[in-house]
Amino acid sequence: MKQTPEMERIQRQMRPGVISYDGFLGSDKRLLCEIMDADEAAVRRMGLSHSAIAARMRELREAGARGLGQTTSVPPHFEVTVDAVRGKLPCPFLHEGLYEKIYTIVKNNTSGESVTYTDMNIHMIEAHGFYEGEGAPFRQDPATLARVLEIED
Ligand SMILES: [Zn+2]
Repeated sequence: MKQTPEMERIQRQMRPGVISYDGFLGSDKRLLCEIMDADEAAVRRMGLSHSAIAARMRELREAGARGLGQTTSVPPHFEVTVDAVRGKLPCPFLHEGLYEKIYTIVKNNTSGESVTYTDMNIHMIEAHGFYEGEGAPFRQDPATLARVLEIED
């Protein structure tokens, strides 16, 4: 992938304080295209796709949302909590639409590991193949998602 002028503009939107306080890049010094290429390669190495990962994230989010803020057991061995903070965010990829600040915590009771991801994460993975930069508060490592959420190819 090449860093186009449009991607430059998107990367500027991702800096701290433009769309969100922390931004989407963390301490990552790479170009946006390099971040996305690396995660794309990691996803392919596992035999997965962004849409398969996003679908699993959404499936667990929907199952957990039935708990209305309470932690919910989701078979076979997950505990899922879905909650929200006030406000809405636009996607940094420069298109219309606002996303509620809903976040999902999934604990895998077999391994004891957990992940926390937002509705924006699900959208950005599904629509843009973007998992955020290293060190960003909501960075999603594709391999960690696959392991904790037990996503199979
Ligand atoms: Zn978007």
